[in-house]
Amino acid sequence: MAAKKLQIALYWGAACGGCDVAVLDTNEFILTVGEAADIRLWPIAADGKYQDIEAMADGELDLSLFNGAVRNSENEHIAKLLRRKSKLLVAFGSCAHLGGIPGLANLTSKEDIFATAYLGNASIEPGNRTVPHPKTQVNGHSLEIPAFYRRVYRLSDVVDVDYFVPGCPPEPSQIKNVLLAVVKGELPPKKSVVGASERTLCDDCARRKTEKKVKRFYRPWEIIQDPERCLLEQGIVCMGPATRSGCGVRCPNSNQGCRGCYGPAPGVVDHGAKFLSAISSIIDSKDPKEIDAILGTLPDFIGIAYRFGLPASILQRRHGA
Ligand code: SF4
Repeated sequence: MAAKKLQIALYWGAACGGCDVAVLDTNEFILTVGEAADIRLWPIAADGKYQDIEAMADGELDLSLFNGAVRNSENEHIAKLLRRKSKLLVAFGSCAHLGGIPGLANLTSKEDIFATAYLGNASIEPGNRTVPHPKTQVNGHSLEIPAFYRRVYRLSDVVDVDYFVPGCPPEPSQIKNVLLAVVKGELPPKKSVVGASERTLCDDCARRKTEKKVKRFYRPWEIIQDPERCLLEQGIVCMGPATRSGCGVRCPNSNQGCRGCYGPAPGVVDHGAKFLSAISSIIDSKDPKEIDAILGTLPDFIGIAYRFGLPASILQRRHGA
């Protein structure tokens, strides 16, 4: 008798679709997944219906990969549904893991987001005052859309999560490793961050490191960099000292600073605070005015330091947002 196939689901919440594309980027390995597993839900690629998932027995799914943050009531509903129906629920990618880029919306309010998207947008018909409401009456019928929440949550804020796979998006090789671990039943302890390393990115970065003394910060296009030397030493912002490794040091190897998508390094409570500490230690001045001037060359600190993890930070959101 043929071995029973794994039952799996993939879902996207508040996401850009990159995590789903990363699954497709496993190339022919996806065919191996198809042989080993029945894909019961995958909105970007397969026509599964929510009702089909609702009709399943609890725990019927062996594995659910949830990418994207929780931004609205539909995301929360499916998170809770998949939690109930799945033996293993994985927060897959930066947005599910930490809140991700959508989490930066926690710096502003729902009203400001709606005003920008629906009232002040140049592509909207002049004079339009229509903004989405969860329930609308049209010709005697009631239309319902998901309710937009006041803030963005990571997956573990709304349900219990078994494993976390970091990255924006996760590396295809890490995706293979995770799926193979499930197939072989060789999973690490629950709550682990899988498909990543226990080191910082700097530990794995081959660039030459000497003493860091920075008199100003540069955007990559403002400076001709030394391709052998640590970017941060050259004043090019790199989140390597605060960030978990496992991506293969892809950004510094491509002459770009690390953006921090693998999240805080092991033992780091707050990604941005750790980065602030690293930045503070390399500023080459003791004069408060000069320090201010140097910091002035560092644009959008919160957008750099919390780009992928504001909802997972100690602050979580701007007060009043
Ligand atoms: Fe490499 Fe960036 Fe760390 Fe420098 S700061 S060693 S460039 S990862």
